Amino acid sequence: MLWKLTTTNKYGNLRSRIVHSNGPLTIGQGFGPFVGVSLFRYQSKKSYFGIFKSPVDGKHYLTPDWTEVIEGTTINDVVHIPKVKVEIPKEKEEWLFESSSDPGQFYKVRKIGATYKCSCPGAWRAKDRECKHIKSMKNG
Ligand SMILES: [Zn+2]
Repeated sequence: MLWKLTTTNKYGNLRSRIVHSNGPLTIGQGFGPFVGVSLFRYQSKKSYFGIFKSPVDGKHYLTPDWTEVIEGTTINDVVHIPKVKVEIPKEKEEWLFESSSDPGQFYKVRKIGATYKCSCPGAWRAKDRECKHIKSMKNG
């Protein structure tokens, strides 16, 4: 089994390391004051995986992710964490334009996805619902 061992170093900062132990956990010298220990598992993005000792550098790797693992790691120390799709929220931007005919009055142009909307009366009067503010945004 693998354990995540948290200790404090000589500067008082928390340090975590992964240790392997099949029996009772013995904490070696030089680890600093002991803070906590919890069961640790490596995570694999693939549902199939294996532990592979590289003949090149002698290190142990979780394949096919090629994550370096400590010696003694077995496939029981690995859990499969599927990749989660992250939904990117539609960009929503807003700009304020001061009215040229009525200083102090502001109109708000909003971009929602690819659509622009403006709060000024010109947007309602225009046939294509595009006032000069929207046009200036579209034309950069
Ligand atoms: Zn406008």
